[in-house]
Amino acid sequence: MHVELLYHTPDPERAIATAARLCYAPVGAAELMETMPEERVRSVLSTIMSSGHFSTLEHASYTFAVDGVSRALTHQLVRHRIASFNQQSQRYVKFTDGLATVKPDSIAADPQREAVFDEAIDAAIAAYEKLLAAGVPAEDARYLLPNAAETKIVITMNVRELLHFLSLRCCNRAQWEIRDMAHRMLALAKPTAPFIFMDAGAPCIRGNCPEGKMTCGNPYPRVKRD
Ligand SMILES: Cc1cc2nc3c(=O)[nH]c(=O)nc-3n(C[C@H](O)[C@H](O)[C@H](O)COP(=O)(O)OP(=O)(O)OC[C@H]3O[C@@H](n4cnc5c(N)ncnc54)[C@H](O)[C@@H]3O)c2cc1C
Repeated sequence: MHVELLYHTPDPERAIATAARLCYAPVGAAELMETMPEERVRSVLSTIMSSGHFSTLEHASYTFAVDGVSRALTHQLVRHRIASFNQQSQRYVKFTDGLATVKPDSIAADPQREAVFDEAIDAAIAAYEKLLAAGVPAEDARYLLPNAAETKIVITMNVRELLHFLSLRCCNRAQWEIRDMAHRMLALAKPTAPFIFMDAGAPCIRGNCPEGKMTCGNPYPRVKRD
């Protein structure tokens, strides 16, 4: 898996604080963006995060390039409706030079399981290639491709959605592959806006686990703002 932060809103914390401060200021956003002292930016952000004035977080966004993940991951990922996605197409890209796949550790760790997995993948790919060679359009031949098929996707999320996504998908309850990706996204975003992302991640970082009986029982240390 490769996750890269392609770009983000410049000075995201100032952009968000500016949007919030505008609600109560006699001057415009352009002036606030330029003149607001750093301490003020910090205190406004603190108010936003504690008061839940989260619409202001929508003024900064992050774009990630993700390669080498499975279709099983992206199927879960695209359930996040407030995010924007573009994904490598299995209609327009033909996998005639072989299909890269993601193999879970639970399978790779055991030679017998691995053999079952490899045999099934090889059979699916061989059948896919046969159909392509017989003139079946890639959009139909791809019905044979497995969930393990590697894919590439570009993701844009505003900060409100990104925090929500990280809360659900950094949690130990999330499936391992999307959790791995979420942790990588957080590690890339955090240095760009350390105050905003200070307690980002699974809910147990900020308070109690909401998972009830399904809790992993292994909470992170709590992070407290201020
Ligand atoms: C551990 C885990 C297990 C899961 N298991 C399953 C499963 O078994 N089956 C399954 O189908 N899914 C499953 N999901 C997916 C889950 O149900 C959500 O579809 C997914 O996590 C996206 O969450 P969301 O809707 O909060 O996020 P987003 O779509 O990113 O939306 C963000 C927020 O915007 C608001 N919002 C967005 N759209 C609407 C709307 N139409 N109306 C009102 N408010 C809206 C909501 O407040 C929402 O929380 C699982 C997710 C996790 C994390």
